[in-house]
Amino acid sequence: MKLIVLGSSSSGNCYILDNGTESLIIEAGIRFQEVKKALDFNLRKVVGCVVTHAHNDHAKYIKAMVDSGFHTLALREVWTAKGVWDSRSLVVKEGKGYKMGNFKVLPFPACHDVPCVGYLIDHPDMGKMVFLTDSCMCEYQFKGLNHVLIECNYSDKKLIEAITTGRTLPSQRERLLTSHMELTTCKGFLEANDLSHVSEIVLLHLSENNSDEPYFISEVERHTGKVVYAAKPGLTIDLDRI
Ligand SMILES: [Zn+2]
Ligand SMILES: [Zn+2]
Repeated sequence: MKLIVLGSSSSGNCYILDNGTESLIIEAGIRFQEVKKALDFNLRKVVGCVVTHAHNDHAKYIKAMVDSGFHTLALREVWTAKGVWDSRSLVVKEGKGYKMGNFKVLPFPACHDVPCVGYLIDHPDMGKMVFLTDSCMCEYQFKGLNHVLIECNYSDKKLIEAITTGRTLPSQRERLLTSHMELTTCKGFLEANDLSHVSEIVLLHLSENNSDEPYFISEVERHTGKVVYAAKPGLTIDLDRI
């Protein structure tokens, strides 16, 4: 199973899981033309799309997903915010499982400044993956994980530096604390979960002003002993089972 990253930041999020015959799209925050290109214009293999919340960097192009015939999972608030109602707009219920092709998808509550979910995604070719972005924390532990995609938006140190040098407004600090994941929280989440069958960790949604990609990668690598990537457009990873 391949993971293709089309975007992972406040300027747009979209990821594709693709095993050659089935594709699942995660997030709809990238222009649909880009998504089609990444799918080699083979839209028939798309088994569905899952969206975490209504912010435009995740859901701006959700209508294009539905209009293309993709069954799309999102919270009721997302459909209401985007004014999209169609037989393919599926309303997510947290804790309820969904099947999209051979993907099994389980939404769970995230902790953001608007209603938001993370997804536990299972496929025979990949095993179990957790996907959590735009969440200041995670109170859940997951069993039997093979792949971890987790937000690592900022570090307190970088944030303070950015505020001191005027790159980040002091008023943004309060919002970040309750809406995005800090490096220490990310490491705490990884520590709380059994990583013995995890083959790699992908850090998501790094802030442009308040993060430090090489440092975040080395910190998480040092902390977990796993291979760590930072998601960015063009990154493609083989998600093999170990
Ligand atoms: Zn976001
Ligand atoms: Zn958001």
